Amino acid sequence: MRITFYGAAQTVTGSKYLLEVGDFKLLLDCGMHQGKRDVANELNEHFPINADKVDAVILSHAHADHCGMLPVLVREGFKGKIYCTAATADIAKFILEDAANIQEHDAFYFNKHLPEGHKPIVPLYSHQDVKKVGGHFEPVPYFRLSGQWTQLNPNIRFKFYDAGHILGSAVTLLEITEAGQTKRLVFTGDLGRHFLPILRDPEFVQEPAEMLITEATYGGRAHKPVADLEGELKTIITQAVVQKSKIIVPAFSLGRTQELLYVLHKMLDAKQIPALPIFVDSPLSQKITRVFNTYTNDFDEQFWEDFGEKGEKAFFFDGLTSTASIEESKSINDKLGPYMVIAGSGMCEGGRILHHLKNNIDNPNNILLITGYQAEGTLGRKLIEGITPVNIFGLPHHVKAKIIVLNELSAHADQKDLLNYVAHIEGLKKVFLVHTELPQATAFKGLVSAAHPNIEVNIPEFREEFDV
Ligand SMILES: [Zn+2]
Repeated sequence: MRITFYGAAQTVTGSKYLLEVGDFKLLLDCGMHQGKRDVANELNEHFPINADKVDAVILSHAHADHCGMLPVLVREGFKGKIYCTAATADIAKFILEDAANIQEHDAFYFNKHLPEGHKPIVPLYSHQDVKKVGGHFEPVPYFRLSGQWTQLNPNIRFKFYDAGHILGSAVTLLEITEAGQTKRLVFTGDLGRHFLPILRDPEFVQEPAEMLITEATYGGRAHKPVADLEGELKTIITQAVVQKSKIIVPAFSLGRTQELLYVLHKMLDAKQIPALPIFVDSPLSQKITRVFNTYTNDFDEQFWEDFGEKGEKAFFFDGLTSTASIEESKSINDKLGPYMVIAGSGMCEGGRILHHLKNNIDNPNNILLITGYQAEGTLGRKLIEGITPVNIFGLPHHVKAKIIVLNELSAHADQKDLLNYVAHIEGLKKVFLVHTELPQATAFKGLVSAAHPNIEVNIPEFREEFDV
C-alpha cells in the first residue's frame, strides 16, 4: 500500500492523506488550507487529487482544516461515501456552509478593490456545491457503542475510537489485508486531552498496529493542567469587572466557544466570578451549539454531574446574549465595559472578531484573551508575538490592549499525551508525524526515537509518498 501526504505536512492545516491499497483509493480527511491568505488560496485552488478516482473518504472530525475541501472533491467527481460519526456529519454541514459564505464575502470584497489588469477572484465553492456533499455522509458510531467494524471492501475494514478532540471526533483503526498479509494502521485525526470540559477522554487503541499517522501539533511542549483554567479566568474576569475592561475572545465556533461557555456557566453558578455581560457574536457558534444540545449522550460524566442530571442547559445562562444580525454585532461596540465578547474566527483571520479588534485593541484597559492555537502567519499569531502595529482591514492599528494567552483549553494532546498514546500501541514499526510545524515535529521525533529506538519516525513533506 502507499500513503501520500497531500496536506498538514510540516504545517497544521489542510489535512489530506491518500491511502492506496491495490486499486482502492481511500482519502483520510479532506481539509482546507488555512492561515496566511495568499499561501492558503494558492494551495486550495489546486486540488491535488483526482477526485473521481477516490473510492471513499474517512473524516476524522468537522474542523474546516479536515473537512473544508469536501465540496471540491464532490464537484470534481467523487462518487463514494464519506464515513464519519453522526455528530461530525451534522456539524460539517454548518462548517462547509460557513466556508462558502466566507469565500463569497472575501471574493466580493477583493474584487471590489481589484487593481486593474488582475483577474477577479472566484469563490472556491458555492452553497450548491456544499449541498451536494450532504448525500455522501455515511454515519458510523464509535466502536464502543456499536461493537461493529465497517467494511470498505473485502480487504479493508475500520472502526472508530473516541478522539476526545471535539464533539464527534474519531481516531480510525484500519485493518488492511494485502497479498495475504494483514496490517493495521491508526489515524488519529486530531487527538484531544484528558479532563477537557464536555468531551469524553480520548480512548486508547486496543489492537496492536504496525503504523500510526498521528497529529503532533504540540509535540514540542507541555500544556498547563486544565485545573488552572478556572483560577486564571477568575483573576482576569474579576479584574476586568473592577476596571470596566472589555474582554475580546477570538474563539473557534466549534468546540472552544462551547467549552468556554460551559466553564463560565459553572463558575458563575458557583459565584467564583462576578456577573458581567457575555456576548456570543457568531451565528455559526449558535448553530453548532444547537447540534451540541442534540448529542448530550456523547458528553462526559462531569457534564451529567454539573448540568445534565439537573436538567440544566450547559450553554445558556443569565447574562449571556447571542447576537445574530450585523446591527446587533455592531451595537456591542457602543456598550461600555465590562463585558466579554466571544467571536470568530479563532485565529483572527476573518469574521466578526476583526471588528471588535479594530475598535478595542488600541485601548490599554482592554484585554485580548487568546484561548486557541494560532498558526504561523495569522493575525492571532502576530498579536501573541507582541507585534505592533498590526493591519486590520488594511489599516495599521497600535496594539495596546493587554494580551493574555490561556492554553489550558487546547483541544490538542500535548507532548506527554502524544508520547503516552504512542506507547499504548503495541507492535508499532512506523510513525508519521503530521499536523505540526517542523520544530514541534523534530522535538517530538527525538523523544519517540529515544523511548522506542525500533520505531521509524517520519516527518513527511507535502506530496511525499511512502510505500509501506
Ligand atoms: Zn481539529
